[in-house]
This record gives sequence, structure tokens and C-alpha cells, in this order.
Amino acid sequence: MIHSSFHPPVRTLMGPGPSDVNPRILEAMSRPTIGHLDPAFVTMMEEMKVLLRYAFQTDHELTMPVSAPGSAGMETCFVNLVEPGDKVIVCRNGVFGGRMKENVERCGGVPVMVEDEWGRAVDPHKLEDALKAHPDVKLVAFVHAETSTGAISDAQTLAELAHRHDCLVIADTVTSLGGSPLKVSEWGLDAVYSGTQKCLSCTPGLSPLTFSERAVEVVKQRSSQVQSWFMDLNLVLGYWGGGARRSYHHTAPINALYGLHEALVILQEEGIEHAWQRHRDNHLALRAGIEAMGLSFVVNENERLPQLNSVAIPEGVDDAAVRARLLQEYDLEIGAGLGPMAGRIWRIGLMGYASNRRNVLLCLGALDAVLSDIGAPIEGGVAVEAAMASYAAS
Ligand SMILES: *Cc1c(COP(=O)(O)O)cnc(C)c1O
Repeated sequence: MIHSSFHPPVRTLMGPGPSDVNPRILEAMSRPTIGHLDPAFVTMMEEMKVLLRYAFQTDHELTMPVSAPGSAGMETCFVNLVEPGDKVIVCRNGVFGGRMKENVERCGGVPVMVEDEWGRAVDPHKLEDALKAHPDVKLVAFVHAETSTGAISDAQTLAELAHRHDCLVIADTVTSLGGSPLKVSEWGLDAVYSGTQKCLSCTPGLSPLTFSERAVEVVKQRSSQVQSWFMDLNLVLGYWGGGARRSYHHTAPINALYGLHEALVILQEEGIEHAWQRHRDNHLALRAGIEAMGLSFVVNENERLPQLNSVAIPEGVDDAAVRARLLQEYDLEIGAGLGPMAGRIWRIGLMGYASNRRNVLLCLGALDAVLSDIGAPIEGGVAVEAAMASYAAS
């Protein structure tokens, strides 16, 4: 028998997500659970939609959180928009583009791949060539912020190209929402999903979603039924769709939604432009320290995400051993590389609440100490000072 409660260690989360959760959010989540059709809860749901529209910078009517993690938001977009036989262009420059391809295939669609090197942005010219070569394509899907590599793509340009060829756009904004400029309506993004545990600094398990009128129309005009009962937006909207007549679809994760509501209130208090700027300032300070140490970034400067910093591991340094020491000695988590980048890069997240001066200095100081201790080929003792100088200059 297990007699004691679980008490997790207190860590600083500077990996690819989850990021440190703002204590205000944890406090909000501990408030009393009420019924999911309670009028007070319904009021909270309506506020949530307004707050999410601000975060996404959109006026799309259909804006709500899916009751499951970012991967379920991805799946919700594909199962609702892709019918058997549909051709979908998928831009792949990392792990998550690969998952989009699998989603298309599982919906019976036909993926047309636009491939870019891992660590690079999606090349709009390649998308344009693919659109010209395949005039019967229905959808274009891409990842705005590729968390597996730390590269950001030009979502506005990619969406413009797609629309010029009469395609709808599916965009993954799991890591960009709240951290990098994202303007869903201005850029014309049709089906957009995100996550709560990256730059919103909420607990994992929900996926904010927004659909344009055009995308909703496509869902309504389907000739086949959506194969997923749980994700069928025609049914989900009976619950989230507003109006007094809400019907039971599934039991909403009540307390998790309190958390997301609080996260969005916090974002609104800060102001979204200020949040974007804070992510940039902290990235620049981290970068100053990393480069002073003699380490280098993997992604070209103009394609780099401020909230996910991919740093090349110096020759001869044991990736796992360094991360284990950071965790044991500093309670600091940074991320490992994925797929072809495993063992070659560290992914240092500066997401949401975790994007702050204290974390930048902690991470640089801890990396400096551990790498110096194992005799890695770095310049010791200068990283923290370089970061401080970056803050002084900003
Ligand atoms: C984290 C992430 C996902 C998946 O989100 P989960 O909440 O882990 O399911 C999808 N896309 C991108 C770009 C991500 O970073």
C-alpha cells in the first residue's frame, strides 16, 4: 500500500514544455469544482472565448479550447477538414510536420510533402511550386513555431500563397501563441490550434482552437461524417457554441479551464505585444551568454524562435550527463534534441512565465559551472556577465 501523497520536486522548467506554471494559475485551479452546465460556469466559458480571441488576435466566432492536449487540437483540425481522397500539402521542417502527415493519412487524405531541412523555416518558394504542381489541393498545413528545432516560419506569407490557390490553411501555433507575434485574422489562418503548457504557462492538457467562417463552412458541407465522435466540431459546438441551450457533449475539465482562464487574464494584463517583447529580450540575453561561452545556435538568426533556443552541444560533451547534473544540482530542466537532432542539441525554453531574468541567469550560471567542471571546451565565467550587459542595453 502507498500511504503518502505525491509531492513532486520543485523544478525550473526550461525545456520545450511544459514551462513553469504561474502560481496564480495553480491557485485558480484549486477553486471549487462546479457543474459544467452551471450558469456560473457558462459565464466563465463565454469569457474564455473572448480571452482566447485576444490571444489569437482574431474575431473568429468558433474559438474555444479542446478538452485535451495540443496533439488533440491538431487532430481536431485534420479530422474535421480532411475527407477521404482530399489532397493536403504538409510543410515539414521538424517533428510536428511529420505528425501532420500521419494525421492526413489516417483521415484517408493524400499528403503532398514540402520538405525543408530541420532547423530551417518553411521555404515559401517550395510551397508555391507545390501549389502550382498540384492544383487540386484543398488544404495547406504547416507549423508556425517548430519546437523540435527552434525555427519560426513566415505564417502570413505561407497563408497568402495558400489562399491565392484557393486552399484553406491549418496552422500549428502550439509554441508561438503568447510568445511570438501571431495574428490569426490579419494573416488569414483558417484552422489554428495551440497548447496551454508552452507560452501560456498553464498546465498541460488543453488545446485552444480557432476556425474561420470558411473553415466552419467546409466542416458543415462535408459529404462524409467526421470519423471521430469526440472531435466532431458539429457535436462539440452543441456545448461550446453559446446561447442558452447548451447540451451535454462531454464533461469539461472544469478546474483545468479555470487555469486557462487565469492564464489568459494574465496575458491580457501584461498586453500581448509586451509578452512578445519580453520573450525577445530574454532570448537576447540568453543568446549573449551562450555566445560569450563560445557555444552556438543551430537556427539562423532571422528564423530563430525566442522561446525555444537550440544550442549545439560541444564536441565530446555527453548530452545526457550534463542534463542530469543540471536537474540534480540545480533543479533545472532543459530539453534534449529530437529525432536526427538527438545528442546534437540542447533545447532551452524561455516560455511564458519562465521567460524571465532569473531563469536566464540561472541557466547560464548552471551550464557554465557544469561544462567548466567536466572540462568542456568553453569560455568559463563570462556568460552571466554577458547576459547582464544585454539587459543593461535593452
Ligand atoms: C508541444 C507541441 C505539440 C503537441 O502538444 P501536446 O500538448 O504535447 O499534445 C504540437 N505541436 C507543437 C509545435 C508543439 O510544440
